[in-house]
Amino acid sequence: MYGHWVSSLRKWGVREWTMTAMAFVVICAVLMTAGRGLASGASGEVLAVRFGGDGERTRVVVDLERSARGSVIEDGAEGRVTLALAGVAPGRGLNGDGSGLVSGYRVAAGSGASRVQLELAKTAEIERRFLLPPGDGVRHYRYVIDLKAKSGTVAVVGSRSPRSTPAQPRAPRRADRPLVVIDAGHGGHDPGASGAHSRESAVTLAAAMQLKSELERTGRYRVRMTRDSNVYVGLYRRVQIARDAEADLFISLHADAGADPATRGASVYTLSEQGAGRAVREFTRGDNWHRALNLPGRDPSVDRILLDMTQRVTQNRSAQFARMLLTHLEAADRALLRRSHRDAGLAVLLAPDVPAVLLEMGFITNPEDERDLNDERARRRMMRAVAEGIDRYFTQPRDTMQMASAANVTSGQP
Ligand SMILES: [Zn+2]
Repeated sequence: MYGHWVSSLRKWGVREWTMTAMAFVVICAVLMTAGRGLASGASGEVLAVRFGGDGERTRVVVDLERSARGSVIEDGAEGRVTLALAGVAPGRGLNGDGSGLVSGYRVAAGSGASRVQLELAKTAEIERRFLLPPGDGVRHYRYVIDLKAKSGTVAVVGSRSPRSTPAQPRAPRRADRPLVVIDAGHGGHDPGASGAHSRESAVTLAAAMQLKSELERTGRYRVRMTRDSNVYVGLYRRVQIARDAEADLFISLHADAGADPATRGASVYTLSEQGAGRAVREFTRGDNWHRALNLPGRDPSVDRILLDMTQRVTQNRSAQFARMLLTHLEAADRALLRRSHRDAGLAVLLAPDVPAVLLEMGFITNPEDERDLNDERARRRMMRAVAEGIDRYFTQPRDTMQMASAANVTSGQP
């Protein structure tokens, strides 16, 4: 690459000494930049505080020179949110007006930490907070604090008060909102697993409808269902619905069944390697698959490689989403059968270009799980956790998700 650059310059008649001088200037510039980076990196300061969102939901982004651990000092109950960021010094002159739910902010020194104080314009609470490592074109760390307006009446989890609806943030009517396809397992002549007094196809549909409303409430997603009544839809048809709609995420809801009534808990499945191989075979059988995937389509082997890459990215994203989902389900106190996601070559996860997971919400054959699966409030609590997992999946920049889901995220609630 460098040799090519030199010969082009030579072609343009640039002399050797000019090139040497240019190289010197370039090297000096690089060294100076690197030096400055090191010098400031050593102090590790808060660089800036930025705001986004509106009077219902406000995102506060604290730009940091290095990683910091956050802890809540004031949670907003007293009209102020204060966070300690351990390991970074407060930058100079960081104070001013806020935006949305924040009327003003100040970054002050604490003991070995920076204190980020946010004066609230109205009653609000911390919805979530997390650290994002550098990535996605941003070179520094970011500590993100999402604030949510709190209405006078405290919302009871799982309640269906119609009054809570107008308080929700207005949906930005943008076509680029991510599309989530929700798949209620089974239906029609296929009732799925049976519990003592309920059928899987009914609880998956009820849960799917609740998840739909949870997602639509945020105004941040478009939602499509593979079925919204008690009808049978073939497995490949479900995949096709997601692909045709160019879904950004596919989530299939099921309930487990076991021989032992004591077995209970939720689990999350993603596509296995074997399943991935099946998907490739499935989608390369016809003639039109490369066109459907927007692949060049002239050389089948090249297309095959591209498909394989699409698949790998999709698998990574599915696994990332599965991890976030598990984190949020655990936070919602859902008993988990397995603490990490499992793989399965399940037919509904076969779309090569749509990240997909299958959630077994619990065992319909276990009395407690069956009760929860049929209890509107318990189900809503679980679907809220799923919606939060989805939210987390989409708020993380794609390229940093892998890293962010690892050790350096300070997740969720204090
Ligand atoms: Zn099922």
